[in-house]
This record gives sequence, structure tokens and C-alpha cells, in this order.
Amino acid sequence: MDKFDIIIIGSGAGGGTLAHKLAPTGKKILIIERGDYLPREKENWQPQSVFTLGHYNPQEKWLDKSDKEFTPGTHYYVGGNTKFYGAALLRLRENDFNEVKHFGGISPAWPLKYADFQPYYLEAEKLYSVHGLRGDDPTEPPESEPYPSDPISHEPCVQNIVDRLKKANVGVFHLPVGIRLNEKNKEKSQCIRCDTCDGFPCMVDAKADAHTTCIRPALEHDNVQILTRTMAEKLIEENGEIVAVDVMTDGKPQRLIADTFVLSCGAINSSALLLKSGVANSSGLVGRNYMCHNNSAIVAISKEKNTTHFQKTLGINDYYDGGPDSDLPLGHMQLLGKVMPEMLMGDAPFFTPDIALKEMADHAMGWWITSEDLPDPENRVEVTDSGQIRLHYTENNLEAHKRLYEKLKEIIHISGPTTHIFPNSLYLRKKIPLAGVAHQVGTCRFGTDPKTSVLDTNCKAHDLDNLYVVDGSFFPSVSGVNPGLTIIANALRVGDILAK
Ligand SMILES: Cc1cc2nc3c(=O)[nH]c(=O)nc-3n(C[C@H](O)[C@H](O)[C@H](O)COP(=O)(O)OP(=O)(O)OC[C@H]3O[C@@H](n4cnc5c(N)ncnc54)[C@H](O)[C@@H]3O)c2cc1C
Repeated sequence: MDKFDIIIIGSGAGGGTLAHKLAPTGKKILIIERGDYLPREKENWQPQSVFTLGHYNPQEKWLDKSDKEFTPGTHYYVGGNTKFYGAALLRLRENDFNEVKHFGGISPAWPLKYADFQPYYLEAEKLYSVHGLRGDDPTEPPESEPYPSDPISHEPCVQNIVDRLKKANVGVFHLPVGIRLNEKNKEKSQCIRCDTCDGFPCMVDAKADAHTTCIRPALEHDNVQILTRTMAEKLIEENGEIVAVDVMTDGKPQRLIADTFVLSCGAINSSALLLKSGVANSSGLVGRNYMCHNNSAIVAISKEKNTTHFQKTLGINDYYDGGPDSDLPLGHMQLLGKVMPEMLMGDAPFFTPDIALKEMADHAMGWWITSEDLPDPENRVEVTDSGQIRLHYTENNLEAHKRLYEKLKEIIHISGPTTHIFPNSLYLRKKIPLAGVAHQVGTCRFGTDPKTSVLDTNCKAHDLDNLYVVDGSFFPSVSGVNPGLTIIANALRVGDILAK
């Protein structure tokens, strides 16, 4: 049987990026991915398929802490969740690496600081074609180089909001987004500025996802291979090393061997695989300290028709570290992608006829607010005797999120006409439930002490000589911004370590 130098398990933001980084080293690399390539098909851009019918959702069920089943909001494809992400790619703020006091307790310090990540953030922004404007967001950490691409222009309805908010001294900034868009030369632009980006796979390969950005070019190297539809089931340990991984390809078992193994199955699945394998857990912390953000999607219905196609161009961080009436951090705000009737269905009263839903969607502006949830060892991933994932989660730090929502209501009020088609109070708000595991992190935190962390600062398991984890598992705290860019930057950092 072939022996590989490195086996990478999972091809999303962490694993895909690492494969791309290591491909030129000539090392013999095998990527194992439980999903298949996502087919290019009409359903990619059909809201009904994606949102109502769950065409791309996994078949499996997980359990909550009361053993009630739910379908997790995750995706198993080459490229992982980045096939569906909104590609809002923000750096953590400098202070996110320090201990920070919150309403709900302490957000712990990271063992490394912003300076350790800075060069990799820049590399990540270049690799993932991030558009942005340096200095636009006053909370952004220091960087002397500009963004690799110009900020994405606002469409007229969003520009109106920006103008009104700027007049009221609200600190709006161009949201950094990773897409292959050329606004100066439309003929050369891969992105067509459509309204099916955030939450949808990109039919024209214009979203900078891990598949098109990393896996596809990595596979052009003869030394890199991928096994799709192949699920890693167990890691085999001998004398402090992982010697093999047992996998199942289309129901057929096989054992694969390598010198080094890298897990990147997403924070929940990576910790589940470690728990099933009974490895790397001398701290007892594998699966614990699961975080996913306090996220809410808010839809404001205005009198004005919203004609925007590509809407995810605006962010606000005025309350990231607190505000005039809050000494403690509240969080981050950004626009959502275009709101569609299918997305409103679950929230509108059941008697709302389709026409009203369409009318609502035509006049809707979607916002997304994110506040930090804090690490709690009781918020954890477990695996039942039958191998099913159980996710224990109790919300925390909700005061920050509640206050952030109140701030957003003020901002929505400033940003749009006061007359609404529906009563002024109609802000449909949905706090993202347990199944919303999009921002999963924290289940194998990194640190210097093997008693209080699973991974060392190189993201190698303290307990094992040759096992690394490069998905979101390593986060000791989640920060208030989307996790994608930090996962990518960290994979590039670990790639440098492995290349050496
Ligand atoms: C709808 C949506 C919108 C989002 N928007 C944003 C955004 O705008 N900005 C942002 O920063 N983040 C966003 N995210 C989150 C972002 O996509 C994730 O943070 C990121 O993809 C996580 O990277 P990862 O490498 O940890 O895992 P993933 O990207 O999920 O990759 C894990 C991979 O491992 C595979 N896998 C799992 N288990 C196994 C196994 N046992 N064997 C083999 N393979 C396995 C999976 O199939 C998957 O391909 C969004 C997510 C979603 C779902």
C-alpha cells in the first residue's frame, strides 16, 4: 500500500488551504474528503432548492443535550462550508488575542498574538482575493499593505444607507469579501454580482472558496491526490504516533498510512473523530469549549423597494468594544446577502400568502449581527455509543447580543425611511439556533500547557508527535467577527511549520 508523507482529512477552509500551501513542497499528500464535488447545476442558485428543500444539506442527524435530533447546518463537499459561505473575510481585532472582559464573563487570551498572525492574514487575503479598503474600519488591526483588490462598490440602495449613516456619524466600512470580481473590466470579471452568493454555491466559480481557490490548483501537482466520498472513521495510534487512518469509501473500508496526519473536518467533526479514536485527550478537553457565536439575522422591511443584487458590502464595528452606554464589547454588524421570499417563510406568520412574502422580500434589507459567546467546558461535542454526534450547548453572554440588537434597531431607523409598509416595529429577527453550526470553533483549543489545551501553539496535539488540527478547533475564544480568514491564515502558518 502507498505510504503518504501527509494525509489531510477534510478539504474546507483549513484543509484545502493547507493542501495548497504544501503542494509545491513535493511532499506526497493525500486529501481525504467525505463529500463529493458539488455539482454545477441549476439548483446552485435556486433559493427554494437551497433553503426550502435543503438540497445540499447532509443526510445525518445530530442530537442536542436533550437527545432531540436535528439536521446540522453544515455541508459535506470538496471545499467544505466555504462552498456556501458569504466570504466576509475579516481579521480578528488586535485585542481579540488578549483576555477581554464581557458581560457574561472572560474571553481568554490566545497563546499567540496578532503579530504572529499578521503575515499570514496578508497571505490569506491575497490567496482568497479579498476586496477591501485598509483604514476604512477603525477597529481593523494594523497592516501597511493595501487589500489585494479594491473595495466592492455599494449598489444604490446600500449607498443610500451608507450616506444616511455617515451623516449620522455611524462608522460604516466596506466589508472585506473574497470574490473574483473585476468592476473596472466587467468582461474580465468572473463574478457577475448576482443575488445568490451568501449561503449559495457559486455556479460560475467566482466565490473564493477552498475548492476553486486551493484544492483545484493543488491537484495540478503530481504529488497531491484526493479521495472523495471517503469518510475518516478512526485514527490508529501506536507509541505516541498516529500510524494510520481507517476510512470508508462508498461503503468500502480501507486503512491509509502516512508520516503525518492533519485533521480539518470542522471543529465538531474533528473532535468527534478524536473522541471516537480515543486519542489526543489527556487533558480531557477534546470536544469541550465549543463556540459558535451569538448570531442573529434581522430583516428590516422598508417603504423603499430594495433593488440590490450583491448586498454584502457594508459592515459596522462601532460597538465592537462597547459603546456610549456599554463599557463591555457588543459585537459586529454586516449586511446579509439578498433576502428572498423562501428565506422569510419560516419567520412570517403561516397565513402570509406567497404574494405578501414576495412583497416583503422586495422591500427587505437583511442584516447579520454577531456577538461573542464564551468558552464553557460544558458546551461540548460528545459521541454516543452508536457513533452519533451529540452537541451540548447552553447560550451565554446574551446581554451583549441583546444590546447589539438594540443598537442595530437604532441604525436601521437612521438608515431608512421611517414609514414602513408594515408597522414600524416589524423587524423580523431570528437568533440562529443550535443547528446553525456555521461558525463552529474551539473544540481542541491551542495553548502552551498540555493540561489546559489539546494542541500546542503549532496546532500539533500535545499527546502525539505527528497529529495536527487546522480547522476552527484551535480557537481559545471566538472573537466577534466571522472565523473564516483566521482559519485560513492559521492553516498557512501551520503549513510553514510542516514545510520545514
Ligand atoms: C452559510 C454559511 C455562511 C458562512 N459565511 C461566512 C462568512 O461570510 N465569513 C466567514 O468567515 N465564515 C463564514 N462561514 C463559516 C466558514 O465557512 C467556516 O468557518 C469554515 O468553512 C470552517 O473551515 P473548516 O476548515 O474548519 O471546516 P469546513 O470548511 O467545514 O471543512 C470541513 C471539511 O471536512 C469534511 N469532513 C468532515 N468530517 C470528515 C470525515 N470524518 N472524514 C473526511 N472528511 C470529513 C467536510 O465534508 C468538509 O469538507 C459560513 C458558513 C456557512 C455554512
